Amino acid sequence: MRLLLVEDTARLRDLLVDAVHGVGWRIDAVGSVSDAEEAVACAEYDLLLVDLGLPDGDGLDLIRAFRRARKETPILVLTARGAVDERIAGLDAGADDYVAKPFNHGEFLARCRALLRRSPNASAPALTAGQLTFDLASGSVACGGDEMALAPRERTVLEILMRDAGRVVKKRKLEHALSEFGDELSSNALETAVSRLRKKLDGATTGVSLETIRGVGYLLREKMS
Ligand code: CA
Repeated sequence: MRLLLVEDTARLRDLLVDAVHGVGWRIDAVGSVSDAEEAVACAEYDLLLVDLGLPDGDGLDLIRAFRRARKETPILVLTARGAVDERIAGLDAGADDYVAKPFNHGEFLARCRALLRRSPNASAPALTAGQLTFDLASGSVACGGDEMALAPRERTVLEILMRDAGRVVKKRKLEHALSEFGDELSSNALETAVSRLRKKLDGATTGVSLETIRGVGYLLREKMS
């Protein structure tokens, strides 16, 4: 799962990023309407978390533009406590739910989970290939029932390859997924993640092989038994 947080209060942004990382989802955090527009143009998200009062504009305009573009990603609005008008305006603009600040950590995550269940990526709660199971809600990977220890980048690469198991995945798509918004990815970061992941897959009875398609990308193939 990949979330986008649009919030200009740095302290709250850090708290929410920590909360989301704690449950194993990925999150990009930005503090302005213009950075949010750039983020949604570059990446696919499963959930947007949008503060309404932003330094360069109104979160409502961002939500309206997003819906006008026929994007259906769920949106959770972060509003000030007791601001009934803000909640109504947010929902009318196309948001799916709201939480009032200051909010409880547990309630915030529960609202996120409820909206993520509606995401197209949540329709299958787990991906499988060979003996591997990738739990999309928790991000944990198991091989024949035993949990497999993966670093975050290895996990991201494996999730994408498992979604497209049996098909070649372009290198660019994987590189894009590995680069956190605003960060440049070092040139061999993907190769390193792939080679470590391959070593782990080959070291267990996974029933899959990670193949390099030179000059194009990678392919996760289920072995014939
Ligand atoms: Ca604000």
